[in-house]
Amino acid sequence: MSLQTELTGNPDVVRLSASALDRLEQGCRASAAAKARAAMRPVARERRRYAPWADFPLGLVMAALDAAEFEGADPDIAVGRAVEASRDPVHPGVVRWVLHACQTYLETSESLAAELAAEGVELRPERRPRVVQHGSSPTAMRILTAWGRWYGSPDGALVEFRRMRLRRPLGRPDAPSTLAMAYVAAAGDRVLDPRDVYQAVPVPVEPGPRPRRVRVVEMGLTEPDARTLVDCSPEEVRDAYLGSVRPVAAQLLTGDVRAPGSGCAGCRISGSCEALVRVPGLLGLAGPGTHRRTWSVTTARQYQLCPARAHLRDLRLPAEEADGSATRRGLLVHRWLEAAHGRAPASGTAPGTAPGVRPCTPADLPDPATGELGLAGGLMSPEEYEQAWPYLVRHVEVCPLRGPGEVTGVAPEPRVAVHDTEADVVVVAHPDLLRRVDGRLVYREQKTSLTERGITADNALELVPQLALAVSLIAGGAFGDTRGTVELEQLTPLSGTVISFDAGDPGVVAAARAVLAELAGPWHRDAEFRAEPGPWCRFCPVSRWCGDAFRAEEGPFITVDGLVIDPVTGEVLESGGRTTSRVEAIGDALDEADDDEPPF
Ligand code: SF4
Ligand code: SF4
Ligand SMILES: [Zn+2]
Repeated sequence: MSLQTELTGNPDVVRLSASALDRLEQGCRASAAAKARAAMRPVARERRRYAPWADFPLGLVMAALDAAEFEGADPDIAVGRAVEASRDPVHPGVVRWVLHACQTYLETSESLAAELAAEGVELRPERRPRVVQHGSSPTAMRILTAWGRWYGSPDGALVEFRRMRLRRPLGRPDAPSTLAMAYVAAAGDRVLDPRDVYQAVPVPVEPGPRPRRVRVVEMGLTEPDARTLVDCSPEEVRDAYLGSVRPVAAQLLTGDVRAPGSGCAGCRISGSCEALVRVPGLLGLAGPGTHRRTWSVTTARQYQLCPARAHLRDLRLPAEEADGSATRRGLLVHRWLEAAHGRAPASGTAPGTAPGVRPCTPADLPDPATGELGLAGGLMSPEEYEQAWPYLVRHVEVCPLRGPGEVTGVAPEPRVAVHDTEADVVVVAHPDLLRRVDGRLVYREQKTSLTERGITADNALELVPQLALAVSLIAGGAFGDTRGTVELEQLTPLSGTVISFDAGDPGVVAAARAVLAELAGPWHRDAEFRAEPGPWCRFCPVSRWCGDAFRAEEGPFITVDGLVIDPVTGEVLESGGRTTSRVEAIGDALDEADDDEPPF
Protein backbone atom coordinates (compact mmCIF):
# COMPACT_ATOMS: atom_id res chain seq x y z
CA MET A 1 0.00 0.00 0.00
CA SER A 2 1.05 3.59 -0.45
CA LEU A 3 -0.02 6.80 1.21
CA GLN A 4 -2.47 7.45 -1.65
CA THR A 5 -4.31 4.21 -0.95
CA GLU A 6 -4.04 4.33 2.83
CA LEU A 7 -5.89 7.62 3.10
CA THR A 8 -9.24 8.61 1.69
CA GLY A 9 -10.82 12.04 1.32
CA ASN A 10 -9.70 15.36 -0.07
CA PRO A 11 -5.92 15.47 -0.60
CA ASP A 12 -5.93 19.20 -1.38
CA VAL A 13 -6.15 20.44 2.20
CA VAL A 14 -2.75 20.43 3.87
CA ARG A 15 -2.10 21.59 7.41
CA LEU A 16 1.61 21.36 8.11
CA SER A 17 3.27 22.13 11.41
CA ALA A 18 6.65 23.82 10.92
CA SER A 19 8.31 21.38 13.32
CA ALA A 20 7.21 18.45 11.11
CA LEU A 21 9.99 19.51 8.75
CA ASP A 22 12.45 18.08 11.25
CA ARG A 23 11.11 14.68 10.19
CA LEU A 24 13.11 14.96 7.00
CA GLU A 25 16.19 14.33 9.09
CA GLN A 26 14.75 12.10 11.78
CA GLY A 27 11.53 10.20 12.35
CA CYS A 28 9.05 8.86 9.83
CA ARG A 29 8.25 11.11 6.89
CA ALA A 30 5.22 9.11 5.79
CA SER A 31 3.65 9.57 9.20
CA ALA A 32 4.23 13.35 9.03
CA ALA A 33 2.78 13.46 5.51
CA ALA A 34 -0.31 11.52 6.61
CA LYS A 35 -0.81 13.85 9.55
CA ALA A 36 -0.62 16.90 7.29
CA ARG A 37 -3.50 15.73 5.05
CA ALA A 38 -6.11 17.39 7.20
CA ALA A 39 -9.16 16.46 5.11
CA MET A 40 -8.26 12.82 4.65
CA ARG A 41 -8.81 9.91 6.97
CA PRO A 42 -7.16 6.52 7.21
CA VAL A 43 -8.78 3.72 5.23
CA ALA A 44 -7.96 1.34 8.09
CA ARG A 45 -9.80 3.23 10.80
CA GLU A 46 -9.01 2.52 14.42
CA ARG A 47 -10.69 3.80 17.52
CA ARG A 48 -8.14 5.99 19.21
CA ARG A 49 -7.73 5.31 22.93
CA TYR A 50 -6.15 7.92 25.15
CA ALA A 51 -3.81 7.69 28.13
CA PRO A 52 -5.65 7.86 31.46
CA TRP A 53 -2.92 10.21 32.73
CA ALA A 54 -1.62 13.57 31.54
CA ASP A 55 0.92 12.58 28.90
CA PHE A 56 1.85 15.94 27.41
CA PRO A 57 3.93 17.91 29.95
CA LEU A 58 4.61 20.70 27.44
CA GLY A 59 0.86 21.33 27.20
CA LEU A 60 0.80 21.92 30.95
CA VAL A 61 3.74 24.30 30.64
CA MET A 62 1.84 26.24 27.97
CA ALA A 63 -1.30 26.44 30.11
CA ALA A 64 0.68 27.60 33.14
CA LEU A 65 2.58 30.20 31.10
CA ASP A 66 -0.73 31.54 29.81
CA ALA A 67 -1.86 32.07 33.39
CA ALA A 68 1.48 33.66 34.31
CA GLU A 69 1.82 35.92 31.27
CA PHE A 70 -1.79 36.97 30.67
CA GLU A 71 -3.17 36.94 34.19
CA GLY A 72 -0.03 37.72 36.17
CA ALA A 73 -0.23 34.55 38.27
CA ASP A 74 2.86 33.46 40.21
CA PRO A 75 4.47 30.38 38.64
CA ASP A 76 3.46 28.00 41.44
CA ILE A 77 -0.14 29.22 41.35
CA ALA A 78 -0.15 29.10 37.54
CA VAL A 79 1.13 25.52 37.56
CA GLY A 80 -1.37 24.57 40.27
CA ARG A 81 -4.19 25.88 38.09
CA ALA A 82 -2.92 24.08 35.00
CA VAL A 83 -2.69 20.81 36.94
CA GLU A 84 -6.15 21.30 38.41
CA ALA A 85 -7.62 22.00 34.99
CA SER A 86 -6.00 18.90 33.49
CA ARG A 87 -8.57 16.35 32.35
CA ASP A 88 -6.33 13.51 33.52
CA PRO A 89 -4.23 13.02 36.67
CA VAL A 90 -0.74 14.49 36.57
CA HIS A 91 2.16 12.50 38.03
CA PRO A 92 3.88 14.36 40.92
CA GLY A 93 7.21 14.18 39.05
CA VAL A 94 5.61 15.92 36.08
CA VAL A 95 4.25 18.66 38.35
CA ARG A 96 7.77 19.30 39.65
CA TRP A 97 9.24 19.54 36.16
CA VAL A 98 6.44 21.76 34.88
CA LEU A 99 7.03 24.19 37.74
CA HIS A 100 10.77 24.19 37.04
CA ALA A 101 10.10 24.71 33.32
CA CYS A 102 7.77 27.66 33.95
CA GLN A 103 10.19 29.34 36.32
CA THR A 104 13.05 28.80 33.87
CA TYR A 105 11.03 30.15 30.96
CA LEU A 106 9.90 33.25 32.83
CA GLU A 107 13.42 34.03 34.06
CA THR A 108 14.85 33.65 30.56
CA SER A 109 12.02 35.80 29.25
CA GLU A 110 13.06 38.59 31.58
CA SER A 111 16.61 38.48 30.20
CA LEU A 112 15.31 38.57 26.63
CA ALA A 113 13.02 41.49 27.46
CA ALA A 114 15.94 43.37 29.04
CA GLU A 115 18.07 42.84 25.91
CA LEU A 116 15.34 44.23 23.67
CA ALA A 117 14.56 47.05 26.10
CA ALA A 118 18.18 48.15 25.72
CA GLU A 119 17.37 48.63 22.01
CA GLY A 120 14.21 50.52 22.92
CA VAL A 121 11.91 47.65 21.95
CA GLU A 122 9.06 46.45 24.14
CA LEU A 123 7.68 42.95 23.63
CA ARG A 124 4.28 41.76 24.78
CA PRO A 125 2.99 38.22 24.91
CA GLU A 126 0.22 37.51 22.40
CA ARG A 127 -2.58 35.08 23.08
CA ARG A 128 -3.39 34.46 19.47
CA PRO A 129 -0.99 32.42 17.36
CA ARG A 130 -0.35 33.11 13.69
CA VAL A 131 -0.83 30.93 10.64
CA VAL A 132 0.00 31.26 6.98
CA GLN A 133 -2.67 29.98 4.64
CA HIS A 134 -3.17 30.04 0.92
CA GLY A 135 -5.84 28.52 -1.23
CA SER A 136 -8.54 29.07 -3.74
CA SER A 137 -11.33 27.59 -1.62
CA PRO A 138 -11.89 25.65 1.64
CA THR A 139 -11.35 22.47 -0.37
CA ALA A 140 -7.91 23.49 -1.60
CA MET A 141 -5.92 25.07 1.21
CA ARG A 142 -2.36 24.99 2.45
CA ILE A 143 -1.97 26.00 6.07
CA LEU A 144 1.36 26.37 7.84
CA THR A 145 1.32 26.46 11.66
CA ALA A 146 3.93 26.85 14.41
CA TRP A 147 3.45 25.51 17.94
CA GLY A 148 5.03 27.72 20.58
CA ARG A 149 4.63 31.13 22.16
CA TRP A 150 4.07 34.42 20.39
CA TYR A 151 5.20 37.96 21.17
CA GLY A 152 4.94 41.31 19.41
CA SER A 153 5.82 44.94 19.88
CA PRO A 154 2.81 47.21 20.50
CA ASP A 155 3.14 48.79 17.01
CA GLY A 156 3.38 45.38 15.33
CA ALA A 157 6.82 46.14 13.88
CA LEU A 158 8.49 43.19 15.63
CA VAL A 159 7.10 39.68 15.83
CA GLU A 160 8.85 36.99 17.86
CA PHE A 161 8.11 33.28 17.91
CA ARG A 162 9.51 31.11 20.68
CA ARG A 163 9.97 27.39 20.28
CA MET A 164 10.17 25.49 23.55
CA ARG A 165 12.76 22.79 24.05
CA LEU A 166 12.48 20.34 26.91
CA ARG A 167 16.08 20.65 27.96
CA ARG A 168 18.03 23.34 26.10
CA PRO A 169 18.02 25.10 22.73
CA LEU A 170 19.27 22.81 19.99
CA GLY A 171 17.93 24.12 16.67
CA ARG A 172 19.93 25.53 13.77
CA PRO A 173 19.25 28.88 12.10
CA ASP A 174 19.17 27.22 8.67
CA ALA A 175 17.01 24.23 9.65
CA PRO A 176 13.83 24.01 7.54
CA SER A 177 11.69 23.98 10.70
CA THR A 178 13.35 27.19 12.00
CA LEU A 179 12.86 28.98 8.68
CA ALA A 180 9.26 27.80 8.45
CA MET A 181 8.58 29.18 11.94
CA ALA A 182 10.18 32.46 10.88
CA TYR A 183 7.97 32.47 7.78
CA VAL A 184 4.82 32.05 9.87
CA ALA A 185 6.00 34.98 12.00
CA ALA A 186 6.80 37.07 8.92
CA ALA A 187 3.82 36.33 6.70
CA GLY A 188 1.21 34.90 9.07
CA ASP A 189 -2.02 36.43 10.28
CA ARG A 190 -3.29 36.25 13.82
CA VAL A 191 -6.05 33.72 14.31
CA LEU A 192 -9.33 34.89 15.81
CA ASP A 193 -9.67 31.90 18.13
CA PRO A 194 -6.61 29.77 19.08
CA ARG A 195 -8.82 26.66 19.18
CA ASP A 196 -9.31 26.91 15.42
CA VAL A 197 -5.66 26.49 14.48
CA TYR A 198 -5.83 22.70 14.29
CA GLN A 199 -9.53 22.42 13.39
CA ALA A 200 -10.96 25.00 10.96
CA VAL A 201 -10.35 25.19 7.21
CA PRO A 202 -9.67 27.96 6.46
CA VAL A 203 -8.64 29.21 9.89
CA PRO A 204 -10.47 32.48 10.64
CA VAL A 205 -7.80 35.19 10.94
CA GLU A 206 -7.51 38.91 11.45
CA PRO A 207 -5.07 40.61 9.08
CA GLY A 208 -2.85 43.08 10.87
CA PRO A 209 0.19 45.24 10.20
CA ARG A 210 3.13 43.42 8.64
CA PRO A 211 6.23 43.24 10.83
CA ARG A 212 9.48 44.88 9.84
CA ARG A 213 11.57 42.58 12.01
CA VAL A 214 11.11 38.87 12.75
CA ARG A 215 12.73 36.79 15.45
CA VAL A 216 12.72 33.08 16.23
CA VAL A 217 14.07 32.18 19.64
CA GLU A 218 14.48 28.74 21.17
CA MET A 219 13.90 28.52 24.90
CA GLY A 220 15.40 25.84 27.13
CA LEU A 221 12.89 24.71 29.73
CA THR A 222 15.29 22.83 31.96
CA GLU A 223 18.44 24.85 31.45
CA PRO A 224 17.95 28.62 31.56
CA ASP A 225 19.15 29.37 28.08
CA ALA A 226 17.74 31.04 24.99
CA ARG A 227 19.14 31.03 21.48
CA THR A 228 18.06 33.58 18.91
CA LEU A 229 18.08 31.65 15.66
CA VAL A 230 16.53 34.25 13.39
CA ASP A 231 16.56 38.03 13.72
CA CYS A 232 16.09 39.71 10.36
CA SER A 233 13.65 41.36 7.98
CA PRO A 234 10.55 39.55 6.68
CA GLU A 235 11.95 39.83 3.15
CA GLU A 236 15.04 37.85 4.10
CA VAL A 237 12.86 35.25 5.79
CA ARG A 238 10.63 34.99 2.76
CA ASP A 239 13.59 34.50 0.39
CA ALA A 240 15.07 31.79 2.60
CA TYR A 241 11.71 30.07 2.97
CA LEU A 242 10.85 30.07 -0.72
CA GLY A 243 14.36 29.11 -1.73
CA SER A 244 15.11 26.30 0.66
CA VAL A 245 12.07 25.28 2.67
CA ARG A 246 9.26 25.03 0.15
CA PRO A 247 10.96 22.32 -1.89
CA VAL A 248 11.70 20.43 1.31
CA ALA A 249 8.09 20.70 2.45
CA ALA A 250 6.93 19.40 -0.95
CA GLN A 251 9.33 16.49 -0.59
CA LEU A 252 7.94 15.67 2.85
CA LEU A 253 4.36 15.76 1.62
CA THR A 254 4.86 13.69 -1.49
CA GLY A 255 7.60 11.29 -0.40
CA ASP A 256 6.73 7.97 1.19
CA VAL A 257 9.73 7.08 3.32
CA ARG A 258 8.88 4.95 6.37
CA ALA A 259 10.92 4.63 9.53
CA PRO A 260 9.28 2.34 12.08
CA GLY A 261 9.98 3.28 15.68
CA SER A 262 8.37 4.66 18.78
CA GLY A 263 6.37 7.15 16.67
CA CYS A 264 4.31 4.28 15.23
CA ALA A 265 2.15 4.25 18.38
CA GLY A 266 0.70 7.68 17.54
CA CYS A 267 0.68 7.35 13.76
CA ARG A 268 -2.55 7.89 11.81
CA ILE A 269 -1.85 5.13 9.32
CA SER A 270 -0.44 2.49 11.63
CA GLY A 271 -3.50 0.34 10.91
CA SER A 272 -2.44 -0.13 7.29
CA CYS A 273 1.31 0.52 7.30
CA GLU A 274 3.22 -2.49 6.02
CA ALA A 275 6.51 -1.27 7.48
CA LEU A 276 5.12 -1.90 10.96
CA VAL A 277 5.18 -5.66 11.43
CA ARG A 278 2.35 -7.20 13.44
CA VAL A 279 3.06 -9.96 15.94
CA PRO A 280 -0.07 -10.60 18.02
CA GLY A 281 0.77 -11.97 21.46
CA LEU A 282 4.47 -11.05 21.28
CA LEU A 283 4.56 -9.94 24.92
CA GLY A 284 2.16 -12.62 26.15
CA LEU A 285 -0.14 -10.10 27.83
CA ALA A 286 -3.86 -10.52 28.38
CA GLY A 287 -5.85 -7.73 26.74
CA PRO A 288 -5.03 -4.40 25.19
CA GLY A 289 -4.26 -2.33 28.32
CA THR A 290 -5.25 1.29 28.72
CA HIS A 291 -4.26 2.60 25.30
CA ARG A 292 -1.64 2.05 22.62
CA ARG A 293 1.82 2.40 24.08
CA THR A 294 5.47 1.88 23.25
CA TRP A 295 7.64 -0.63 25.08
CA SER A 296 11.28 -1.60 24.87
CA VAL A 297 13.68 -3.47 27.10
CA THR A 298 14.84 -0.06 28.35
CA THR A 299 11.28 0.68 29.50
CA ALA A 300 11.19 -2.69 31.23
CA ARG A 301 14.52 -2.20 32.95
CA GLN A 302 13.55 1.20 34.27
CA TYR A 303 10.18 -0.06 35.42
CA GLN A 304 11.82 -2.98 37.17
CA LEU A 305 13.84 -0.54 39.26
CA CYS A 306 11.12 2.06 39.79
CA PRO A 307 7.78 2.63 38.00
CA ALA A 308 7.97 6.42 38.52
CA ARG A 309 11.31 6.56 36.81
CA ALA A 310 10.00 4.59 33.81
CA HIS A 311 6.98 6.86 33.57
CA LEU A 312 8.95 10.11 33.72
CA ARG A 313 11.35 8.90 31.05
CA ASP A 314 8.42 7.68 28.96
CA LEU A 315 7.07 11.23 29.06
CA ARG A 316 10.54 12.40 28.00
CA LEU A 317 11.22 14.55 30.99
CA PRO A 318 14.84 15.66 30.75
CA ALA A 319 17.28 13.28 32.39
CA GLU A 320 20.64 13.97 33.93
CA GLU A 321 23.24 12.83 31.46
CA ALA A 322 24.94 9.64 32.62
CA ASP A 323 28.69 9.70 32.56
CA GLY A 324 29.67 6.52 34.35
CA SER A 325 32.58 4.67 32.82
CA ALA A 326 30.53 1.50 32.29
CA THR A 327 28.02 3.48 30.25
CA ARG A 328 30.71 5.26 28.29
CA ARG A 329 32.66 2.12 27.60
CA GLY A 330 29.53 0.27 26.46
CA LEU A 331 28.68 3.08 24.05
CA LEU A 332 32.24 3.23 22.70
CA VAL A 333 32.38 -0.51 22.08
CA HIS A 334 29.00 -0.37 20.32
CA ARG A 335 30.07 2.59 18.21
CA TRP A 336 33.24 0.81 17.09
CA LEU A 337 31.45 -2.44 16.30
CA GLU A 338 28.73 -0.67 14.32
CA ALA A 339 31.37 1.04 12.20
CA ALA A 340 33.43 -2.13 11.80
CA HIS A 341 30.50 -4.32 10.78
CA GLY A 342 29.13 -1.70 8.40
CA ARG A 343 32.41 -1.45 6.44
CA ALA A 344 32.81 -2.27 2.82
CA PRO A 345 34.90 -5.43 2.36
CA ALA A 346 38.64 -5.11 1.94
CA SER A 347 40.07 -6.01 -1.41
CA GLY A 348 41.37 -9.56 -1.40
CA THR A 349 38.70 -10.79 1.02
CA ALA A 350 39.72 -13.79 3.11
CA PRO A 351 38.89 -17.18 1.57
CA GLY A 352 35.47 -18.45 2.59
CA THR A 353 34.16 -14.97 3.38
CA ALA A 354 31.08 -13.84 1.49
CA PRO A 355 31.38 -10.73 -0.66
CA GLY A 356 30.25 -7.61 1.20
CA VAL A 357 31.39 -8.95 4.57
CA ARG A 358 34.53 -7.87 6.41
CA PRO A 359 35.29 -9.56 9.72
CA CYS A 360 37.22 -7.68 12.39
CA THR A 361 40.92 -8.51 12.62
CA PRO A 362 43.76 -7.63 15.03
CA ALA A 363 45.02 -5.19 12.39
CA ASP A 364 41.89 -3.08 13.00
CA LEU A 365 42.93 -2.66 16.63
CA PRO A 366 46.43 -1.21 16.97
CA ASP A 367 47.76 -1.10 20.51
CA PRO A 368 46.73 2.29 21.97
CA ALA A 369 50.26 2.61 23.42
CA THR A 370 51.51 3.18 19.86
CA GLY A 371 49.29 6.25 19.51
CA GLU A 372 47.58 4.67 16.49
CA LEU A 373 43.77 4.57 16.52
CA GLY A 374 43.10 2.41 13.44
CA LEU A 375 39.41 2.15 12.71
CA ALA A 376 38.62 4.09 15.91
CA GLY A 377 40.13 7.24 14.40
CA GLY A 378 37.25 9.71 13.96
CA LEU A 379 35.01 7.66 16.25
CA MET A 380 36.58 8.39 19.62
CA SER A 381 39.46 10.10 21.38
CA PRO A 382 42.73 8.27 22.17
CA GLU A 383 41.67 8.06 25.84
CA GLU A 384 38.34 6.53 24.89
CA TYR A 385 40.05 4.08 22.55
CA GLU A 386 42.33 3.01 25.34
CA GLN A 387 39.29 2.30 27.48
CA ALA A 388 37.43 0.28 24.82
CA TRP A 389 40.45 -1.53 23.39
CA PRO A 390 40.76 -4.46 25.86
CA TYR A 391 37.13 -5.39 25.13
CA LEU A 392 37.40 -4.94 21.38
CA VAL A 393 40.49 -7.16 21.23
CA ARG A 394 38.39 -9.93 22.77
CA HIS A 395 35.71 -9.34 20.18
CA VAL A 396 37.98 -10.31 17.28
CA GLU A 397 37.92 -13.96 18.34
CA VAL A 398 34.10 -14.02 18.38
CA CYS A 399 33.37 -11.56 15.57
CA PRO A 400 30.01 -12.55 14.04
CA LEU A 401 31.28 -11.92 10.52
CA ARG A 402 34.02 -14.57 10.74
CA GLY A 403 31.82 -17.52 10.07
CA PRO A 404 31.94 -20.51 9.88
CA GLY A 405 29.30 -20.52 7.16
CA GLU A 406 28.41 -17.96 4.54
CA VAL A 407 27.55 -14.64 6.17
CA THR A 408 25.11 -12.42 4.28
CA GLY A 409 22.54 -9.68 4.99
CA VAL A 410 24.66 -7.94 7.63
CA ALA A 411 22.72 -5.17 9.36
CA PRO A 412 24.51 -3.44 12.28
CA GLU A 413 22.22 -1.75 14.82
CA PRO A 414 18.97 -1.80 12.80
CA ARG A 415 15.84 -0.32 14.37
CA VAL A 416 12.97 -2.77 14.70
CA ALA A 417 9.36 -1.85 15.58
CA VAL A 418 6.62 -4.44 15.90
CA HIS A 419 2.99 -4.05 16.89
CA ASP A 420 1.71 -6.60 19.38
CA THR A 421 -1.90 -6.17 18.34
CA GLU A 422 -3.25 -8.23 21.24
CA ALA A 423 -1.58 -6.09 23.91
CA ASP A 424 -1.79 -2.99 21.68
CA VAL A 425 1.85 -2.23 22.35
CA VAL A 426 4.43 -1.09 19.82
CA VAL A 427 7.60 -2.94 20.77
CA VAL A 428 10.85 -1.27 19.76
CA ALA A 429 14.14 -3.16 19.63
CA HIS A 430 17.69 -2.30 18.62
CA PRO A 431 19.52 -5.54 17.82
CA ASP A 432 23.27 -5.06 17.90
CA LEU A 433 23.63 -7.03 14.68
CA LEU A 434 21.41 -9.04 12.37
CA ARG A 435 22.94 -11.35 9.81
CA ARG A 436 22.27 -14.58 7.98
CA VAL A 437 24.62 -17.51 8.25
CA ASP A 438 24.08 -20.03 5.47
CA GLY A 439 20.67 -18.40 5.03
CA ARG A 440 19.61 -18.71 8.68
CA LEU A 441 18.77 -15.51 10.57
CA VAL A 442 21.09 -14.78 13.51
CA TYR A 443 20.27 -11.99 15.96
CA ARG A 444 23.23 -10.93 18.10
CA GLU A 445 23.23 -8.94 21.32
CA GLN A 446 26.49 -7.81 22.79
CA LYS A 447 27.38 -6.91 26.37
CA THR A 448 30.53 -5.66 28.05
CA SER A 449 31.39 -5.92 31.74
CA LEU A 450 34.49 -5.44 33.82
CA THR A 451 34.19 -8.88 35.36
CA GLU A 452 32.40 -12.11 34.53
CA ARG A 453 28.76 -11.78 35.67
CA GLY A 454 27.89 -15.46 35.73
CA ILE A 455 25.47 -15.18 32.81
CA THR A 456 25.01 -18.66 31.36
CA ALA A 457 22.67 -20.39 28.92
CA ASP A 458 20.50 -21.32 31.93
CA ASN A 459 19.87 -17.80 33.18
CA ALA A 460 20.60 -15.54 30.19
CA LEU A 461 16.99 -15.13 28.98
CA GLU A 462 16.00 -13.78 32.38
CA LEU A 463 19.13 -11.74 33.06
CA VAL A 464 19.38 -10.28 29.57
CA PRO A 465 15.76 -9.76 28.44
CA GLN A 466 16.96 -8.43 25.08
CA LEU A 467 17.56 -12.11 24.31
CA ALA A 468 14.04 -13.13 25.32
CA LEU A 469 12.67 -10.37 23.11
CA ALA A 470 14.90 -11.47 20.23
CA VAL A 471 13.70 -15.09 20.51
CA SER A 472 10.05 -13.98 20.61
CA LEU A 473 10.51 -11.60 17.67
CA ILE A 474 11.99 -14.33 15.50
CA ALA A 475 9.45 -16.96 16.61
CA GLY A 476 6.64 -14.48 15.96
CA GLY A 477 7.78 -13.94 12.37
CA ALA A 478 8.95 -10.33 12.79
CA PHE A 479 11.74 -10.96 10.28
CA GLY A 480 9.81 -13.13 7.85
CA ASP A 481 10.84 -16.66 8.75
CA THR A 482 10.17 -18.08 12.19
CA ARG A 483 13.47 -19.90 12.60
CA GLY A 484 16.73 -18.43 13.67
CA THR A 485 19.41 -18.15 16.29
CA VAL A 486 19.87 -15.62 19.04
CA GLU A 487 23.35 -14.99 20.37
CA LEU A 488 24.78 -13.17 23.37
CA GLU A 489 28.37 -12.00 22.97
CA GLN A 490 29.93 -11.20 26.33
CA LEU A 491 33.15 -9.23 26.44
CA THR A 492 35.37 -8.60 29.43
CA PRO A 493 39.02 -7.49 29.28
CA LEU A 494 39.95 -11.14 29.69
CA SER A 495 37.43 -13.02 27.60
CA GLY A 496 35.08 -13.03 24.65
CA THR A 497 32.34 -15.68 24.71
CA VAL A 498 29.08 -16.37 22.86
CA ILE A 499 25.96 -18.11 24.15
CA SER A 500 23.41 -19.22 21.53
CA PHE A 501 19.68 -20.01 21.60
CA ASP A 502 17.59 -21.76 18.98
CA ALA A 503 14.55 -19.54 18.40
CA GLY A 504 12.81 -22.48 16.71
CA ASP A 505 12.91 -24.58 19.88
CA PRO A 506 9.45 -24.50 21.54
CA GLY A 507 11.00 -24.77 25.03
CA VAL A 508 13.22 -21.74 24.41
CA VAL A 509 10.30 -19.78 22.94
CA ALA A 510 8.07 -20.58 25.93
CA ALA A 511 10.79 -19.52 28.36
CA ALA A 512 11.38 -16.28 26.42
CA ARG A 513 7.67 -15.44 26.37
CA ALA A 514 7.39 -16.05 30.10
CA VAL A 515 10.25 -13.61 30.74
CA LEU A 516 8.59 -10.93 28.60
CA ALA A 517 5.16 -11.39 30.17
CA GLU A 518 6.63 -11.08 33.63
CA LEU A 519 8.53 -7.93 32.72
CA ALA A 520 5.84 -6.17 30.70
CA GLY A 521 2.74 -7.31 32.63
CA PRO A 522 2.95 -5.03 35.70
CA TRP A 523 3.88 -2.05 33.47
CA HIS A 524 0.96 -2.74 31.15
CA ARG A 525 -1.55 -2.74 34.02
CA ASP A 526 -0.13 0.24 35.91
CA ALA A 527 -1.76 3.68 35.73
CA GLU A 528 -0.15 5.30 38.80
CA PHE A 529 3.58 4.70 38.46
CA ARG A 530 4.49 4.98 42.10
CA ALA A 531 8.04 5.77 43.15
CA GLU A 532 9.99 2.83 44.53
CA PRO A 533 13.02 4.42 46.16
CA GLY A 534 16.11 2.33 46.71
CA PRO A 535 19.87 2.42 46.34
CA TRP A 536 19.35 2.84 42.57
CA CYS A 537 18.08 6.39 43.19
CA ARG A 538 21.74 7.43 43.15
CA PHE A 539 21.87 6.53 39.46
CA CYS A 540 18.42 7.85 38.66
CA PRO A 541 18.49 10.39 35.82
CA VAL A 542 15.14 11.90 36.84
CA SER A 543 15.73 12.09 40.60
CA ARG A 544 15.67 15.87 40.22
CA TRP A 545 11.94 15.68 39.48
CA CYS A 546 11.20 13.05 42.12
CA GLY A 547 10.18 13.88 45.66
CA ASP A 548 10.80 10.36 46.93
CA ALA A 549 14.47 9.81 46.16
CA PHE A 550 16.24 7.48 48.59
CA ARG A 551 19.01 9.46 50.18
CA ALA A 552 20.12 7.37 53.15
CA GLU A 553 23.05 5.65 51.52
CA GLU A 554 25.91 8.06 50.93
CA GLY A 555 28.93 5.73 51.12
CA PRO A 556 31.32 5.19 48.23
CA PHE A 557 29.46 2.10 46.93
CA ILE A 558 25.91 0.81 46.86
CA THR A 559 24.78 -2.71 47.47
CA VAL A 560 21.90 -4.25 45.55
CA ASP A 561 20.96 -7.90 45.99
CA GLY A 562 24.27 -8.47 47.76
CA LEU A 563 26.35 -7.13 44.86
CA VAL A 564 28.56 -4.07 45.22
CA ILE A 565 28.19 -1.36 42.58
CA ASP A 566 30.31 1.74 42.13
CA PRO A 567 27.77 4.57 41.80
CA VAL A 568 30.24 6.75 39.90
CA THR A 569 31.28 4.32 37.19
CA GLY A 570 28.31 1.95 37.24
CA GLU A 571 30.67 -1.05 37.44
CA VAL A 572 29.75 -4.12 39.46
CA LEU A 573 32.83 -4.46 41.60
CA GLU A 574 32.23 -7.77 43.28
CA SER A 575 29.91 -10.17 41.58
CA GLY A 576 31.24 -13.41 43.01
CA GLY A 577 30.48 -14.95 39.61
CA ARG A 578 26.74 -14.35 39.81
CA THR A 579 24.35 -11.53 39.17
CA THR A 580 20.63 -10.80 39.47
CA SER A 581 18.02 -9.44 37.12
CA ARG A 582 17.81 -6.23 39.16
CA VAL A 583 21.56 -5.66 39.09
CA GLU A 584 21.53 -6.20 35.32
CA ALA A 585 18.60 -3.75 35.17
CA ILE A 586 20.82 -1.14 36.79
CA GLY A 587 23.47 -1.74 34.13
CA ASP A 588 20.89 -1.52 31.33
CA ALA A 589 19.25 1.56 32.78
CA LEU A 590 22.66 3.22 32.90
CA ASP A 591 23.21 2.45 29.23
CA GLU A 592 20.04 4.28 28.35
CA ALA A 593 20.66 6.95 25.73
CA ASP A 594 18.81 10.21 26.13
CA ASP A 595 15.99 10.57 23.67
CA ASP A 596 15.58 13.23 21.05
CA GLU A 597 13.13 16.03 21.50
CA PRO A 598 9.53 15.13 20.81
CA PRO A 599 8.33 16.06 17.32
CA PHE A 600 6.34 19.25 17.67
S1 SF4 B 1 3.23 3.07 11.27
FE1 SF4 B 1 5.33 3.69 11.77
S2 SF4 B 1 6.51 3.28 9.91
FE2 SF4 B 1 4.37 3.25 9.32
S3 SF4 B 1 3.98 5.33 8.60
FE3 SF4 B 1 3.41 5.25 10.77
S4 SF4 B 1 5.23 5.93 11.91
FE4 SF4 B 1 5.87 5.41 9.80
S1 SF4 C 1 14.79 9.02 42.44
FE1 SF4 C 1 14.38 6.90 43.05
S2 SF4 C 1 12.21 6.87 43.62
FE2 SF4 C 1 12.56 8.73 42.42
S3 SF4 C 1 12.08 8.17 40.30
FE3 SF4 C 1 14.26 7.87 40.57
S4 SF4 C 1 14.50 5.71 41.13
FE4 SF4 C 1 12.33 6.28 41.46
ZN1 LIG D 1 33.47 -7.83 14.38
